[in-house]
Amino acid sequence: MDIKITLTNQRKSRPEDESKLGFGKIFTDHMFLMDYDEGIGWHDARIVPYAPLSIDPACVVLHYAQEIFEGMKAYRTADGKVQLFRPECNAVRMNDSCDRLCMPKIPVDDFVTAVKTLVDIDREWVPHTYGASLYIRPFMFATDVGLGVHASKKYIFCIICAPSGAYYAAGLAPVRIYVEDDYIRSAPGLTGAVKCGGNYAASIKAGELAEKLGFSQVLWLDGIEKKYVEEVGAMNILFKIDGKIYTAPTVGTVLPGITRRSAIELLRDWGYEVIEDRLAIDDIMQAARDGKLEEVFGTGTAAVVSPVKELDYKGEAAHISDGKIGPLTQKLYDTLTGIQWGTLPDQKGWIVEVPELG
Ligand SMILES: *Cc1c(COP(=O)(O)O)cnc(C)c1O
Repeated sequence: MDIKITLTNQRKSRPEDESKLGFGKIFTDHMFLMDYDEGIGWHDARIVPYAPLSIDPACVVLHYAQEIFEGMKAYRTADGKVQLFRPECNAVRMNDSCDRLCMPKIPVDDFVTAVKTLVDIDREWVPHTYGASLYIRPFMFATDVGLGVHASKKYIFCIICAPSGAYYAAGLAPVRIYVEDDYIRSAPGLTGAVKCGGNYAASIKAGELAEKLGFSQVLWLDGIEKKYVEEVGAMNILFKIDGKIYTAPTVGTVLPGITRRSAIELLRDWGYEVIEDRLAIDDIMQAARDGKLEEVFGTGTAAVVSPVKELDYKGEAAHISDGKIGPLTQKLYDTLTGIQWGTLPDQKGWIVEVPELG
């Protein structure tokens, strides 16, 4: 893949206080773009100054939501290197999303090259503070013009980057979670296992209602019986019950998180039994009553590991770890972030450096 590079002559000023970055609010100087036309394939890979896109109002994505995305980060190590965490996993997952939404795949190497090249060009934007990072958002959308419902013949693939602060400015803060027993996020045959914007559009209402009640996220149950736990907002969720770890299997309705997968590998290395099977919310609430619900945590690229201190289901509250971060949750957070920010050795081969091409 040949990438044509046009540098901006109006570099934006970068925020000085990295503790005030927030998440996904400001963007770097450049973006990656590539076009797809049926019969031609992907073409015109380019890096250009970050700017608004101009699209036709009858563009398919605006009406029928044919759109997918990825989320990943670039981390700066203490010795100034910039590195990615398992970027090829994002590339493979993006292609799985393409398949489900009838969109054209991108070769894994091209995806990773595009990310590396863009991050290298906007390298100064990668924050210097441990816990802060450059959030990378690759996304693809349909650009055919016309209101007929069919797979588009034209697409744009774009990558933008947002320097983002440590997810928890005040340290790892345990959150309260509302177990949603009315709305659902997915069901077998739907798109729950892929990263498409439509999944989020359908989930906003439940999230807003939960937020009004003082919860930070919604825990989704399975779409058929509303009985088994699936995942949380934009995170997978794991439960430590009586010494063992339980999490929903990623078959069909649950997004296969890369953080989840990495956490499971580490937990198994540390000798924990990890059970990827359906787990009923009733059994979790019972474990809490019996004092056996030891730790609960979410996993996802943005927060890495997010401790849960309370689950509310049908008016009953399960309190976890006395509202504190459980020791295993803390160990996982420390290990994953240590590998990502380069303070711990990468024994798993998960780190990919972004070479300086100048
Ligand atoms: C992105 C995402 C996750 C987490 O995936 P990671 O690869 O760990 O960032 C979990 N659930 C949903 C719904 C997601 O969109």
